[in-house]
Amino acid sequence: MFFSNRRYNIIIITFIALLFIGSVVFLGARSNLEVQEIFEEQYTEQQTLNAKQISSGVTEFLNEKVVALEVIAGAENGVPDDFYMRSFKALYERSQGFYALQYIDESGTIVSGYPEDRTPLGYNLYENNMDQAFQKTKSMGSTYITNPTYTFEDELAMYVWVPVYSGNDFRGTVLAIIRIEEITERVIQSYDSSAGYVYIIDEKGKLLYHSDNPKETGKNYFDILNEPDQDRLYILGEQTEGKEGMGDFEELNENNELEEKLVSYVPIKWYNQVWSVGVVTPVPFITSIVRSIYLKQATFMIITTFFILFFTSLISLIFLSWNRKLEEEVHKKTEQLKNSNQRLQKLNRVKNEFLSMVSHELKTPLTAMRTSSEFLREEDCDKETQKEMLDLIIRNIDRQSRMVDDLLDISRIESGRMVFKEEQINLKEIIDNAIQMMEPMATKNGINIESELDNEPRVKADKDKLLRVFVNLLNNAIKFTTNKGENIKIKTEENRDFVEISVIDRGIGISENEQDKIFDKFYQVDNTSRRKVGGSGLGLAIIKGIIEGQGGSIRVKSEPGVGSTFTFTLRKWEE
Ligand code: ADP
Repeated sequence: MFFSNRRYNIIIITFIALLFIGSVVFLGARSNLEVQEIFEEQYTEQQTLNAKQISSGVTEFLNEKVVALEVIAGAENGVPDDFYMRSFKALYERSQGFYALQYIDESGTIVSGYPEDRTPLGYNLYENNMDQAFQKTKSMGSTYITNPTYTFEDELAMYVWVPVYSGNDFRGTVLAIIRIEEITERVIQSYDSSAGYVYIIDEKGKLLYHSDNPKETGKNYFDILNEPDQDRLYILGEQTEGKEGMGDFEELNENNELEEKLVSYVPIKWYNQVWSVGVVTPVPFITSIVRSIYLKQATFMIITTFFILFFTSLISLIFLSWNRKLEEEVHKKTEQLKNSNQRLQKLNRVKNEFLSMVSHELKTPLTAMRTSSEFLREEDCDKETQKEMLDLIIRNIDRQSRMVDDLLDISRIESGRMVFKEEQINLKEIIDNAIQMMEPMATKNGINIESELDNEPRVKADKDKLLRVFVNLLNNAIKFTTNKGENIKIKTEENRDFVEISVIDRGIGISENEQDKIFDKFYQVDNTSRRKVGGSGLGLAIIKGIIEGQGGSIRVKSEPGVGSTFTFTLRKWEE
């Protein structure tokens, strides 16, 4: 039963432990997913923010340039060539980022510019068929920007045309050439694109900037992309339409493996130009950041699992040892029960034996009394014989009433009804008294009784009952001393609160395993018919009851064939 209980406990504990570990792993895995989602979301938002920053950076940079150009073009004292020379030089030096500044008069001829080496003076737009933007600015009457094209020095640049008026008369245009690289270097260099790349395309899809691939600028981005997937084409389409958004696509990386990428794109709207900036990050880069969070979480899960295992094993051990203790306890109690049962059985046997012995003891004197009485009734006998008969009857009556007294006493002791008087007793007196009473029996058996007293101790006890203790102990000592000529000795020894009294004989002795039983009621070492001496087996039980009832104790020391010493204690009389 205990075995199966223990197994049951272990199964429950293991189940609970697994449940805990399962929950930890499940929650851990779930939160990992959530963390990844949240992180990706946050990362894309951050990416969009970066794209917006680039977009507004470019716009701001260009606006600043145009405002400065419009100030020069709208000046009252505009038009003279030397004015433009000075203004252009000042602007070129103050506001960094211009490639060249030129003034083209109303006939379409470059008449002034800075730096001089980039100014083809006398170059006529109409003659060279380069007059479209000039015409457009003239007809619009406002600033006009051409799509990025190459300069004479083969650099991708944009051309800003600002019309010049004198009153209402058109007097030509101020033309500023700004290299794309100049813009991106100033605006994008602050953005750390180590994780991915940044690119800018115009509304026709021309690649104006690519942080990873500067050589490809100026080409159409659709053409140079290596097998773009549908998602990418869609995103680029959105970009050329000037829309804002985010998305993901797959692209071959430098190891020629398909890699998922996240992109955020934001338009750069400026005058008649619509460009779009895209910020791209490879998903594995984001995952690698999340992985460090995973690692921490995994460590946490392992530690938690370890703790769960540790505590459940601890609980299991406690349970097991608790069970073992319970088992031991039950085993001990079962043993105790078995012992008490055996004792009870033995007591019952003793009681039965006692009953038959009591009947026998009661019957023997009755038979003697009956025979003597009948003899007295029938026979005509002389006075001497009559006296003898009557003495015999009286002795037997005494023997019987002693037996009945013993039975009554033991029942009083057991029910706690025995009353003890507290008298001051001179031990010498009472011992002498007892010796005197037992002397005839001792002499008859050829035994001498002597006493060896420590001063004349006085004790607190019930006199009659104490006399009975001495008489009984002496009676036993005489009864169980078979060799004639032996001595029985009574000795006293005073302690602090007690007096120890010993009755010492050199009789048959008691074997060790009988010694603690002789104080049980009805117990006799030899209760068979071979027993030569009489007795009920109550004597020592009554003595023990009397001694303990007065706060003392009794013990025996004995060796078979050597003799016995019964020692008991009595409380000293204190004045
Ligand atoms: P009983 O009436 O049979 O003497 P007790 O209770 O006085 O009963 O004694 C119990 C048993 O203890 C006796 O039957 C006897 O076997 C043993 N006994 C008691 N006193 C002595 C003694 N002085 N020497 C040896 N055996 C003794």
